[in-house]
Amino acid sequence: MRKPIIAGNWKMYKTAKESSDFVKQLQEKLKNVQDREIVVCPVSLAIPAVVDALQFSNIQVGAQDGHWENEGAFTGNVSPSMLKEVGVKYIVLGHSERRQYDGETDERVNRKLKNVLKNGLRAIVCVGETLQEREAGKMEQVLETQLTGCFTDIGLGDLTSIVIAYEPVWAIGTGKNATPEQANEVHLFIRKFIEKKYNVEAAQAIRIQYGGSVKPENIKQLMGQPDIDGALVGGASLKTDSFCAIVQF
Ligand code: PEP
Repeated sequence: MRKPIIAGNWKMYKTAKESSDFVKQLQEKLKNVQDREIVVCPVSLAIPAVVDALQFSNIQVGAQDGHWENEGAFTGNVSPSMLKEVGVKYIVLGHSERRQYDGETDERVNRKLKNVLKNGLRAIVCVGETLQEREAGKMEQVLETQLTGCFTDIGLGDLTSIVIAYEPVWAIGTGKNATPEQANEVHLFIRKFIEKKYNVEAAQAIRIQYGGSVKPENIKQLMGQPDIDGALVGGASLKTDSFCAIVQF
């Protein structure tokens, strides 16, 4: 049985003060939720304040990226070991906004993933096709390439520390979401990839989140699909009412 995981990606929104005020409200509303994992991913500058506000909480803290090295001459970056020290449990890797604006590649995601795992943290690995790729009939090829690159030399034993997020780029922040059936079909394709590369048990155990304009209005139908195990939520994670409604679908 895969435990649902709902993660909020706050992108470059909310200062440290706004973030810690926000999670105090979330914590109050979600403190009795036990049957699903809840993760919030603030900007790295806000992480210590959020961890502090969430002491003894059922809400875990994630980061939006983490470097492939633990230290070095990498101006502007933050490493998984540094994030771990301040209380981070999950690191999002390969988000399409990082792929689009920050030169993220599958090879880099793979290196980062190895370092996240080496540090004993968990990763949310994002994959997804653009509208152009989908319309050109290249969706499966694109996903296969992304998954192959991201999972190169990742061992079977590490899969329990990895969540995959399927985020069709055309659905992120656009208000257009994949239909639950469309999303489930792709989740099944991803699960088959894991089955081919590893084995059927690993494929059945790995959690695959859907991301792309998830809202209180569509979460129930999405989570009703057999291969959707959670959601990575952007816009709707920035307000307590919508995020709480999504968590408590
Ligand atoms: C995201 O940022 O990962 C995301 C899915 O955004 P939104 O929910 O706003 O589409």
